[in-house]
Amino acid sequence: MTTARAVVLTNFTNPPELASFDVPPPTPGGLTVACRYAGICGTDLHPASGHLDVPTPLVLGHEGLGTVHALGTGTDRDANGDALAVGDTVMWASSIACHACHACHACHVLREPTLCANRRTYGVNRPVTEESPLRGSWGDFISLEPGTTVIRLPAGIDPVAAMSFACAGPTMVHALGGRRPVRLGETVVVQGSGPVGLAAAALAQLAGARVIGRLRPPTRETGEARGQPGSRRPAPGRSTTAAGRRPDSGSPPPRRAPPSRWAAHSSAGGAPRKP
Ligand SMILES: [Zn+2]
Ligand SMILES: [Zn+2]
Repeated sequence: MTTARAVVLTNFTNPPELASFDVPPPTPGGLTVACRYAGICGTDLHPASGHLDVPTPLVLGHEGLGTVHALGTGTDRDANGDALAVGDTVMWASSIACHACHACHACHVLREPTLCANRRTYGVNRPVTEESPLRGSWGDFISLEPGTTVIRLPAGIDPVAAMSFACAGPTMVHALGGRRPVRLGETVVVQGSGPVGLAAAALAQLAGARVIGRLRPPTRETGEARGQPGSRRPAPGRSTTAAGRRPDSGSPPPRRAPPSRWAAHSSAGGAPRKP
């Protein structure tokens, strides 16, 4: 059986470790992707630091780009309806909203599945005890399950450019396309020049808005974010501008964590082996 190395967060006090897992075959409706690129997002710092009550151990990485390694039975199209084949370059959405929920306030009333407590996010709340331990992009392979939004990339797309939108793109599509659509002729002020800020500027400009950017050196940006003197950081829970400090779309709602023990691994998922 093929094995995969992966970066595993075992607990919140030690640095992530490299471990090896058997790569299980894809489930019907799912697929296995050989990861070529994985993003390191600001959100990754939160689970790694214990700021989110996520289950451990888990393979990190909610942003990724790779090539199709194996297709599960019945998996033959991407989210656009284009044919999928082994070797295709694909990207995928980090979260799978619980379409079956329709019971929680977020899903039923707010119509905001990204706030659903049942939402599953690759690399964030997917422990290695699942059917496949490979649920993050910081590994040689990732197991994508049915319900994942997978997109085949057209030929000629620069993978690094595509990766810059892996998380920031959906975050700003949600903000500027869904929560507050930008209209032709409007003026949008973007504060910050990180990936989310750049995605905001690009999408606002494509929508026909006039974009005013406030690009500052990283040191000052970092200082403001940490609340140092001169900070304009808003009160907790308050939204900011388009490129503000709200958790991105990769952040799941806090969840209860199961026991963090290697011994908790299911044999079906393949116990990790130190390389
Ligand atoms: Zn992210
Ligand atoms: Zn829900």
